[in-house]
Amino acid sequence: MGDAKAPYAALKSELDDAFQLAMENMANPDVPQVLKLAQTLQDYLQVRQVVPCSHGADALVLALQTLQLPQQAEVILPAFGDSFAAGAIKRLGLTPVFADVLPTTFTLDPVSVAKLITDKTVAIMPMHLFGQCADMAQLLALAETQQLLLLEDTTQALGAVYRLPGGKEQRAGTMGHLAFASLLPTKPLACQDEGGAVIVNSQNLCDTFQIAELPWATAAVQFQKTTTDTKIANLQAAMVEVKLRYLDQFNQARQEVAAVYDDLFKDTSLLQIPGHTPNSTLIYLQYTIKVPATLRDKLKQHLQDNYIPSAVYYPEPLHLQDGQTPGSLPVAEELAKTVLSLPLHAGLTVEQQTYVAQQVLSFLEKNL
Ligand SMILES: *Cc1c(COP(=O)(O)O)cnc(C)c1O
Repeated sequence: MGDAKAPYAALKSELDDAFQLAMENMANPDVPQVLKLAQTLQDYLQVRQVVPCSHGADALVLALQTLQLPQQAEVILPAFGDSFAAGAIKRLGLTPVFADVLPTTFTLDPVSVAKLITDKTVAIMPMHLFGQCADMAQLLALAETQQLLLLEDTTQALGAVYRLPGGKEQRAGTMGHLAFASLLPTKPLACQDEGGAVIVNSQNLCDTFQIAELPWATAAVQFQKTTTDTKIANLQAAMVEVKLRYLDQFNQARQEVAAVYDDLFKDTSLLQIPGHTPNSTLIYLQYTIKVPATLRDKLKQHLQDNYIPSAVYYPEPLHLQDGQTPGSLPVAEELAKTVLSLPLHAGLTVEQQTYVAQQVLSFLEKNL
């Protein structure tokens, strides 16, 4: 599906130098690699502050705790996506409210969000799914008119660029008040083990919402100094800091591989290729196609029988996991039955991709 080992091979001498430096600093309590990572990521994203953490989930908890939201306050997030955020929201005594997603990009649907806003709503939390931003123009406008916080789960689109109304281009994770990212090995910017980051922005909405009045900035700094259990390990930070210098290059390499799939599938109506959010680049953490629901699992088995891995992200919508009755969020429910992610990494050859596409298409043609 991916090739987590390839970046180490490509950057071995730089990474080994960084690891050696980290080991030489072993007894230094000032964690220089962590601070360097924070600074490099801050410069890359052009944001006010980055706080590296031990996990993406930790980063979200830290962000939410620091905002000191009232108990039972509602956070609106997409029903189609990674489940961990909803869990973290619940554990903090807040209420996750699930909204539907868009049928072509699979990201949070602003119209569905608008319908769910109540006087208990405090935040909107889009997930920049599979490598592209959600519809940020609409979501930012909604957050601004409704005076809501906007928190971005930017894990899967770190490095993607979004053009805001007016033309200004910003990276995913820098448009809302706060963002968080996981740096697990399967993510675009990855360590070898566990890692995450909180990203604090001061532009756009922050000015109107007056985030400066929140205890965030100072609390984050104190948190980093006073606790150890949410700190990313120094060796992991050293790795991420080196890889960050090549993030755009790695993202571009995956875009080129995705373009080959796009081309191989361009003449078929048997499946739907990944759709693009207007004004966002798509860095393809996954190449996720949509196929008829009756054939999805059989296609996955067929691919496996032919030595091709594939994966279903995500098989159960979050509102159904939370006990809601089916039918309330039709797009998320349909996607859970129809999506299939194909192998995607920079090391795939055109021959391999052609084989994948042939297997997919011949199976669909035969069975539809
Ligand atoms: C992987 C993932 C997470 C979870 O991150 P952890 O580091 O495991 O806590 C969160 N959000 C998204 C969108 C993810 O893909």
